[in-house]
Amino acid sequence: MLEWHAASRYLAFSPHPDDAELGCGGTLHQLARRGADVLLTVVTDGRLGTRDPTLSPETLASLRKEEASRAAAILGVELEMFGLPDGGPLNHYDLRDRAVRSIRAWRPDYIFVCDPWLRYEAHSDHRAVGLAVSEAALLSGLVHYAPGDRGPWAVQGVLFYFPQDADVLIPLSRRDQAARREAIACHRSQFGAGDPYLTRLDEQIRRQGAAAGCDAAEAFHLRLRTDLHIPGPAGF
Ligand SMILES: [Zn+2]
Repeated sequence: MLEWHAASRYLAFSPHPDDAELGCGGTLHQLARRGADVLLTVVTDGRLGTRDPTLSPETLASLRKEEASRAAAILGVELEMFGLPDGGPLNHYDLRDRAVRSIRAWRPDYIFVCDPWLRYEAHSDHRAVGLAVSEAALLSGLVHYAPGDRGPWAVQGVLFYFPQDADVLIPLSRRDQAARREAIACHRSQFGAGDPYLTRLDEQIRRQGAAAGCDAAEAFHLRLRTDLHIPGPAGF
């Protein structure tokens, strides 16, 4: 089995236009910098992410699309946006099939997605995307599931960001940390300077770095193919 860090193709799913940058931006930059092909797929359009009543949902969605494009360019990753409604309703089966199509088209070795089993995760978009993508990771490898012009594709595993139980810490170089910060800063509609959420997240990344013996690290829960019932060349 191909180790997750030695792979050449990755697909990261983000419920909203900033989640992947916050949860795994440094790691995505590191992988892209090493020459891997990385696709970032943003599921919803982020149209609810404001407290400004004068900003229309449509204007905000369009603004967030531009912010996501700039952030993806900084991380060195490709960008795909499903444009589904922020806050739902997200139909589980439709979303799962959409994710299967993306997986079969991009053919990633490993997938990144937010952990849908994070205790007390209040946001239904995060739970819905994490669960639909986890299922898509296994279904995309089944020959009789939604057969079409793209053949089945079995991923090697899934790395869950914002994990309930972290078991992988990825050390970030200074360059990866800088790219991560810069990519997050692209989301100006969401974060101002000195945002307390970002300060807390930075502290957490530094704590994780201390645990990994470095400056900063992002945390993941890794489930390999066999843990997720994903069929491989030799079966389950
Ligand atoms: Zn989110």
